[in-house]
Amino acid sequence: KPKDLDNSSKELIPSYDWFQTDGTVTIVIYTKQKDINSESVIADLQEGRLRGEIIVNDYSFLLHFELSYAVHEDIVVQVLGKVRKVELILKKKVSLHWKNLGKPLQSHNSFVKCADRGLFFRKCKLISKSSVSHDTRLLCVLLPSGTHLQVPVGYHVYLKKTITGTEIVKPYTPVISSLVSKFKDPSHNDKTHVFFMIKIYPSGLFTPVLDCICIGEYISVSNPEGTFLKPQAEDVDDLFLLAAGTGFTPMVKLLNYVLTSSSNLRTAQLMFFNKTEDDILWRSQLEQLALDDARFDAQFVLSEPNAKWTGKQGKISFSLVSQFVKRSKDDSKILVCICGPLPFLEQGLQILQDLGTSCEEIHCFRA
Ligand code: FAD
Ligand code: NAD
Repeated sequence: KPKDLDNSSKELIPSYDWFQTDGTVTIVIYTKQKDINSESVIADLQEGRLRGEIIVNDYSFLLHFELSYAVHEDIVVQVLGKVRKVELILKKKVSLHWKNLGKPLQSHNSFVKCADRGLFFRKCKLISKSSVSHDTRLLCVLLPSGTHLQVPVGYHVYLKKTITGTEIVKPYTPVISSLVSKFKDPSHNDKTHVFFMIKIYPSGLFTPVLDCICIGEYISVSNPEGTFLKPQAEDVDDLFLLAAGTGFTPMVKLLNYVLTSSSNLRTAQLMFFNKTEDDILWRSQLEQLALDDARFDAQFVLSEPNAKWTGKQGKISFSLVSQFVKRSKDDSKILVCICGPLPFLEQGLQILQDLGTSCEEIHCFRA
């Protein structure tokens, strides 16, 4: 057991036990975490090895075994939040009595800061690919049946591919298949598909390779990482999203989450910075969403507009942000989220600070 933990963290270290029936082996993890949810459990069953990770605050508890006997490929994960328990259910291939679970593997039964653990990848099959704009694609990958993984709102994952003998790893923020529910394909609504909106840079290292992956080929996807906490957005009155280019991606799930789950929300507004009209991602969906939901509004700002553009122009500025971040009532609880190229972030954060927005009212999406 780790020695360098403070007492309050030591109290959170989960424990586990297991039991079996003729057909199944169930590993029960006692998390000590009130209302533990499904997003805090990441499980992978791969080639007779089980890796089960429980996220408790910013710590990771790991179970890691070479299983004693063969099991079927799929895993069932049950999260019993009220009793703080997680069950990982494996299906025996042969109805034998197991004497033990198996051989412990690296880092088994460890409890470490999430930031101190390495990335773990599983291979996911590319099942669809479509164009969002002239240079941006929507990719959908399928998680293996032995994987339980849900990427929380505001979190990113890493994609990995070997390019000419070198492993390249870059972060991407999963989105949903569509902002407008009536366009959603019901087969994509389950928890086994992950969608990515990825801009292809012709002279980039990684994205031209991603663009060439064919349907049916595999790409490695890591565990989620991030610092966004859902409660930050849960009880806000007004949400302001400042996004530039693909900095729009973390806003997608966030918008969907607040518009469907927040009871307090009065307004959700997006100021979306792009070079040209053709670069605006999901413009028609954003316009449709604004028509469908009176709380939502989107403004587009172009830095390289053509002569026909009559909307807002320029890059992020004090004047644009001060007109945008306006509370709907004097005592509104607000959250301003920002994401985009580094200079955009830096200027945006400075402007927000100059406007008197407090740190608690700002979330910046970055690696
Ligand atoms: P790179 O090789 O990094 O090049 C990118 C651009 O910079 C190209 O135009 C290239 O020509 C230019 N360039 C490279 N090197 C130089 C140089 N020395 N001088 C001048 N120009 C140079 N992107 C998305 O599309 N979708 C997402 O959901 C997404 N999520 C992200 C989440 C996080 C947390 C972070 C940090 C980034 C995210 N990104 C996302 C960006 C992504 O990680 C990559 O940076 C991006 O895909 C570029 O990768 P690349 O290897 O193709 O390009
Ligand atoms: P882009 O080059 O198309 O620029 C989009 C807009 O960003 C521009 O129109 C401009 O308004 C603004 N901008 C660009 N450079 C600026 C500068 N120097 N100063 C002020 N404003 C500037 O953007 P892109 O190619 O789509 O890049 C998106 C960026 O967002 C990437 O750097 C990517 O890494 C980042 N990103 C981060 C996350 C995250 O951290 N969670 C997620 C997605 C994307």
